[in-house]
Amino acid sequence: MPIPIHDPQQTPGTLKRLPLRKAAVLFTVAVCLCLCGLLYLQLEQSRRQDLTVAQMASSNLTRAMAQQAEDTFLAADLVMNSLVDWIQEDGYGAGQKTRLQKTFARRVQQLDQLHGMFFFDRDGQWVITSFPDLPRGNGVADREYFKFHQQNVSTLAHIGPAIRSRENGEWIIPISRRVNDHAGNFQGVLLAGIKMSYFDQFFKSFSLDDNGIMFLGLTDGTLLARRPFDESLIGSSLAKGEIYQTLLPNAAAGTAMLDSFVDGVTRLYGYRQLASYPLVVSAATSRDTILKGWNDRAFQSSVIVALLILGVGLFGWVFIHQVRDGERIEKNLRKAQLALEQIATHDSLTGLANRRLFERSLEIEFARGARQVSPVSLIMLDIDFFKRYNDAYGHVAGDQCLAQVAQVLKACCQRKSDLAVRYGGEEFAVLLPDTDINGALAIAGQIRRSVIDKHIIHSGSPTEYLTVSLGCYSFIPSGNDDPEVFIKRADAALYQAKNAGRNRAAVLSLDSGLAELMRSDR
Ligand code: GH3
Ligand code: MG
Ligand code: MG
Repeated sequence: MPIPIHDPQQTPGTLKRLPLRKAAVLFTVAVCLCLCGLLYLQLEQSRRQDLTVAQMASSNLTRAMAQQAEDTFLAADLVMNSLVDWIQEDGYGAGQKTRLQKTFARRVQQLDQLHGMFFFDRDGQWVITSFPDLPRGNGVADREYFKFHQQNVSTLAHIGPAIRSRENGEWIIPISRRVNDHAGNFQGVLLAGIKMSYFDQFFKSFSLDDNGIMFLGLTDGTLLARRPFDESLIGSSLAKGEIYQTLLPNAAAGTAMLDSFVDGVTRLYGYRQLASYPLVVSAATSRDTILKGWNDRAFQSSVIVALLILGVGLFGWVFIHQVRDGERIEKNLRKAQLALEQIATHDSLTGLANRRLFERSLEIEFARGARQVSPVSLIMLDIDFFKRYNDAYGHVAGDQCLAQVAQVLKACCQRKSDLAVRYGGEEFAVLLPDTDINGALAIAGQIRRSVIDKHIIHSGSPTEYLTVSLGCYSFIPSGNDDPEVFIKRADAALYQAKNAGRNRAAVLSLDSGLAELMRSDR
């Protein structure tokens, strides 16, 4: 086992440990956050993609609806245009009536969307219709389209709100034109009824979810046709809806995610206003339907990521616990190692350094002293008449006495570099690096007086209390010195102190070549 070397000036090598536990926690958290971030990014991207695809589909659908509505009305309009010219040119006298009636019937037969064609005179009475018999009744002077043409000189086609045919009760959308006489006066109204069922069938030909909506309306917001068909809504006004309020005034076509003011459902609305007729078409798919696939994918991905996070978290938790256990074991081992080192290098009775540590320290301090050309001193201490103390008070009391003397040594060794050693039974040594003989003698005197101050009663001593004798030696190491000689010289000084009467500190002089007592502390 390596024995620590007494080298107070040497700072223990503190290798900065990687905070593995913190790193593991951070890594686990970072991996989990990354997984969540990736999931979020991927889901957000695919959500945007699904919405973009739906927007394109909605835009295409409304374009197709607008085209179909335009074609439907244009075909009827063209037929009416030629018939208006005819009536204006040739009138609708008895000779013309039969021909006109046949032409009306033929045109209605040719165009699927037409419910019927009607010509009303200036009083709103049926004059000619595509049906074989003229209906009976009060005429149509009260109808919106009739009043419109009566009051407006415009000869352009007019599309009015959906009405129920007085002929057979079918829902029709009226497209009408004013008929003038040669002088330009109001002569009557030519009307083509477009079957609402024609739009219904067209609307039904598209696959749409249960919450989907398609409608055809006038630019003033009046609803003409709708899927799903709801009779109560036909003719109602959508003018307060967001499409009419905010979207159409800004752009003639577009898409927007809106909450329906009718049923509260959030839908992606595509809308388009026709260029040639005052009509608006719109198709809407509920957001839930658009995002259903995305919702399913999001759920699956979230479950997978949640499982991954759980796995990473569990792994991290186990790993962190293992690291913590490892750290605890390492700490205990370090403690045990320190305790073993303490046992191997210190004396158990007094807690002072033992001879093994003393010898190592001597090597180091000699080398340092040589390097720095500084003196190293040694004090050897022996308790006076200790045999008698043991004999008088017993070995246990003797041991306690040794511990008390050790305490005094510890208290007097104030520098960190000073080392108090239990050298043998009741002999102690104090190694004093960077201390000359004067300093060593001063400390020896301090130790001697401190022991006396303890007032340890010793009946076998002439002074009647415990005293110690100390021998001091000091030299500047040359780099090739023998520690044994060093100890022997301090020991010789101690011998001198004993011989001089004990209870004193002595210094050894080598000037005469022999050990000689130079000075002492009394
Ligand atoms: P002096 O040194 O003044 O010449 O007389 P002394 O009686 O102290 O003689 P010496 O230094 O030779 O004493 C050695 C005695 O110290 C022998 C033994 O009884 C005692 N001793 C040595 N080691 C221990 C120890 O660990 N415990 C106890 N209680 N006594 C010890
Ligand atoms: Mg002795
Ligand atoms: Mg002794």
